[in-house]
Amino acid sequence: MPILAIEEDSLRQRCALCAVERLVTLGELPPHDDVPEGSLVLPPCACGAVEHLLHAPPGEPEHPAPGSFGHKHRLLVDALVEELRGGKRALARRSAPLRQRVEARLPHELLERCFSEGLRTQEKLDGGAVAEEIR
Ligand SMILES: [Zn+2]
Repeated sequence: MPILAIEEDSLRQRCALCAVERLVTLGELPPHDDVPEGSLVLPPCACGAVEHLLHAPPGEPEHPAPGSFGHKHRLLVDALVEELRGGKRALARRSAPLRQRVEARLPHELLERCFSEGLRTQEKLDGGAVAEEIR
């Protein structure tokens, strides 16, 4: 179930099981008291699938394909897990929108190179392309 994009205060995600795209807002995230550090659980999809986002293990080598979907996904998931598992107080403070807080965790050079069009793992979202064709 990849993350497709991080929007202002929500995640756009596609379910691996039923392929439905949905927006998950921060308020919908379940409590993480029982979940190991370094992972994040998304609320269940309508089909029942539950997504776990896992932070890269320490010392993981550089991604073999910089700028690829897999590389961008790794960067976004790591930043998300760090930001959202950083403590409930940080979450409650909500001093800045999620998008801004994730951007602040990414090196400037990577932001410019990989996310110049926003925090998304794909150039164009499928939904947009389909809508264009119908018109
Ligand atoms: Zn689903």
